Amino acid sequence: MRTHPTADHLYEAVRRRLPRISLGTVYRNLDLLSRDGLINRIEVGGMQKRFDGDTALHYHKRCVSCGRVDDAHVPAAQAAIDAAAKEVTDYHILGHRLEFIGLCPQCAVREKPSEGRPEGDQKGETA
Ligand SMILES: [Zn+2]
Ligand SMILES: [Zn+2]
Repeated sequence: MRTHPTADHLYEAVRRRLPRISLGTVYRNLDLLSRDGLINRIEVGGMQKRFDGDTALHYHKRCVSCGRVDDAHVPAAQAAIDAAAKEVTDYHILGHRLEFIGLCPQCAVREKPSEGRPEGDQKGETA
């Protein structure tokens, strides 16, 4: 899955093949898989945890309207990583987070139906 599903999403998907599986089993397996480094548990702003089958370092873009999360194909923030290694010496740094937020293509279309027209130009104010 490339969609960064939540545990609930995964439960719904798995249940289509294994109708008797419990949500607890799904949670337990997600815990095991992420502990073994086979999936990543990603934390995105203010939401349910999501899971990612791609464990390589990469960033995400999140839609603030519908909550969709996609991969952002940008290079690693190497300057920040290097700076942290030098400057943040009182912590043993395990990783970092960078998240791009905005509107996904669908929400961008939905939320700007009148793009291109100046504000107030829409109502023909005839007396
Ligand atoms: Zn959206
Ligand atoms: Zn991802």
